[in-house]
Amino acid sequence: MGLRLSKSIVGKAEAEAVARVILEDGYLGMGNEVRLFEQEVAAFLGVDPGRVISVNTGTAAVHLAVQAVCSPADEVLVPSLTFLASFQAISAAGCVPVACDILEETCTIDMSDAAKRIGPKTRAIMPVHYASNPWKLDEVYTFAREHNLRVIEDAAHAFGCRHNGKMIGSFGDMVCFSFDGIKNITCGEGGCIVAHDEAAAQICKDARLLSVRNDTEKRYAGARSWDFDVTRQGYRYHMSNIMAAIGRVQLKRLPEEFGPARLKLAELYRQKLSGVDGIKLFRTDPNDHVIPHIFPILITSGRKKEVVEGLDAAGIPTGVHYKPNHLLTFYGGGSLSLPVTERVYAQNITLPLHPEISEADANFICAKLLKIVRSFA
Ligand SMILES: *Cc1c(COP(=O)(O)O)cnc(C)c1O
Repeated sequence: MGLRLSKSIVGKAEAEAVARVILEDGYLGMGNEVRLFEQEVAAFLGVDPGRVISVNTGTAAVHLAVQAVCSPADEVLVPSLTFLASFQAISAAGCVPVACDILEETCTIDMSDAAKRIGPKTRAIMPVHYASNPWKLDEVYTFAREHNLRVIEDAAHAFGCRHNGKMIGSFGDMVCFSFDGIKNITCGEGGCIVAHDEAAAQICKDARLLSVRNDTEKRYAGARSWDFDVTRQGYRYHMSNIMAAIGRVQLKRLPEEFGPARLKLAELYRQKLSGVDGIKLFRTDPNDHVIPHIFPILITSGRKKEVVEGLDAAGIPTGVHYKPNHLLTFYGGGSLSLPVTERVYAQNITLPLHPEISEADANFICAKLLKIVRSFA
């Protein structure tokens, strides 16, 4: 059947958009197409276009956000159960990721555990919208205000999602999205920061172009900076016109096509798998609009290995989101113990989820999974 865990959903419209940039514009770097993409993302989120800074990966977005609001040696509270990119972005800025435990019901950061890890060097907190779930994001902001911390949202999973009716990215502090090949929308690779603080926005805007002052404005006017000054470290993290052309098409397809398709599949999984002995599903808040990027579940029977092997034998790929970062040598090699994170890691598998999985595929996946899980009951 050739089932895939995740997939870029691109076709003729994206190909035509890239062809238009190549054949009509001919400038493939960061120019007018990127400016239009930023304007359209801003309109979609309901923010000022000057606050949207597009970059070449989601990891670059998180790195730029961290270096804009933290200084080297500052500590950043972050859940251990996240993509390695969250941790690498923090350490790339010379900061220290402080691994926090998670809530078992959502895999989002456990604020009571985070509170215990605050120290004199704590400068920011990085909530990760695991499986696109903003869960109690308001509490993170309240906590940050109480402890005088910056908030850097790793919203890589959560483009197009809402918290209490508000679009993720439309409020808050520093919000980072990923547009890599398998996220809710893709630019091929790519990402963006929505910076609600003007000073941080300017730092990110410059830092994506080697920190050449105001280079973005020049490029959008079709000009270049030949005489300039630089006052801080910068990077080559800008987005290209080719990526932006793909992203502009994807942005239009999200509300009518990708969002409903992902939601429908997740709903089907929920219906078939809830209340089953040996399987635990994660919670979302009914006040939130969650367009799931991944569909993780817990295999609570202690037979995760057998379930993964059984599904694999039936041609059904599964994933692990994620290996906890505090277990990696570079981040302490397990010298710290985070009980919920470690328990979830031992039980967590991710089922195939992307808009081209049919209802028949999803039914087949559920039937196989239920058969395997019940054989161990
Ligand atoms: C995808 C992802 C990123 C990084 O995005 P890239 O565009 O792949 O660099 C960061 N954090 C999380 C949680 C992600 O899933």
